[in-house]
Amino acid sequence: MKVPLVELDGDEMTRVLWALVKEKLLLPYVDLHTEYYDLGLKRRDDTNDAVTVEAARAIARLGVGVKCATITSNEARKAEYALERLLPSPNATIRAILDGTVFRKPITVQGLRPAIPAWEKPITIARHAYGDVYKAAELAIPGPGTVELVYTAEDGSVTRRKVADMPGSGVVQAMHNIDASIRAFSRACFRYALGERLSVWFAAKDTISKTYDQRFKAIFAEVYENEFRADFEKAGLEYFYTLIDDAAARIVKSRGGFLWALKNYDGDVMSDLIASAVGSLAMMTSVLMSPSGAMEFEASHGTVQKHYYRWQKGERTSTNPTALIFAWTGALARRAALDGLPDLGAFAGRLERAVLDTIGAGFVTGDLAPLCEKPPAAVLDSWAFIDAAAQRLGTAGK
Ligand code: NAP
Ligand code: MG
Repeated sequence: MKVPLVELDGDEMTRVLWALVKEKLLLPYVDLHTEYYDLGLKRRDDTNDAVTVEAARAIARLGVGVKCATITSNEARKAEYALERLLPSPNATIRAILDGTVFRKPITVQGLRPAIPAWEKPITIARHAYGDVYKAAELAIPGPGTVELVYTAEDGSVTRRKVADMPGSGVVQAMHNIDASIRAFSRACFRYALGERLSVWFAAKDTISKTYDQRFKAIFAEVYENEFRADFEKAGLEYFYTLIDDAAARIVKSRGGFLWALKNYDGDVMSDLIASAVGSLAMMTSVLMSPSGAMEFEASHGTVQKHYYRWQKGERTSTNPTALIFAWTGALARRAALDGLPDLGAFAGRLERAVLDTIGAGFVTGDLAPLCEKPPAAVLDSWAFIDAAAQRLGTAGK
């Protein structure tokens, strides 16, 4: 390796598997260079989250990062880890710094039956990574009064809009987005889709949100017409906009094989729906692409908290490491492409093949057992699964 990967370590069960994957599947084969950031919850707390910001800047500087799942702190975690403070979600912080788009793509394997059998091909989700509810200002309203939105322009002129006359206590939320970010998001979607030869669906709720969601719809249409329509038509692909509820209904009956672009919150929810419909949260990868070309790879599941507590009691859990492994292979392949290292790229491909073949041969973790078309050969714990993949990788040659 010529340029180090930015490595962001995390929490709980995924942290345990992170170390195991490196030990068994990476270090024996790759002269691995990483710039390491510990995003474990305690360390983020100790540094008042400076470590998260440094890691995000390192990804912007070096171009490629790989991230383990991390705990987003809440009151329960504050007590559990004796934290000084509640910090924002590290992913939200990183996304805001890189201003990227998150693409989530299911990992499909022959022999695993998706919960929605109509889907012949995976549905890739593109999630806008800036703003909306993730950057909202919220206020608890103690009692009766008037809530307003106020915009003060640079020249001092003021525009006000009444939100509500509050008859009693309640809550209010104000969120925003920026045209430049929406435009960058739409370009990232169209560019990614052309590369992967996918049609694009974009869904929002402009019938209700006549200014906010309407802006998203208009920017997508403008960017498509001016910059992408010709290339899409040449490739036999299409773009269309539809309402989010219509899209949700049509997705279930579709055959898959397209890119579904979604606003930040919709993308968060729908990617979990797609992943679990595909079979398991552990069979979904996630990549954040910034307009500058920097990329961060991760699994789309969380830290698998319940398994971690069982592991702490001594159990060898059957947690599926596939998406974590694919985060590493995605990052290594990207580094290989940027730095002209074909051997490294080929290794990433072999490791993915070894994992898919292990699953395809019926050696699976517990989450996949119910999805197997034929009875699995063996249901393995994470350690045995990683050993089985390592064995296949070994016989595939170094
Ligand atoms: P989760 O870690 O995604 O796990 C939810 C459930 O999904 C698990 O209990 C497990 O089901 C199943 N699952 C997820 N990944 C699996 C895997 N690799 N192998 C097998 N089963 C898997 O979500 P959570 O428990 O709601 O969240 C735990 C922590 O993760 C939270 O503190 C949250 O803040 C954080 N989180 C982080 C990220 C991120 O860093 N990207 C994303 C989401 C959540 P069973 O228990 O039925 O086996
Ligand atoms: Mg989520």
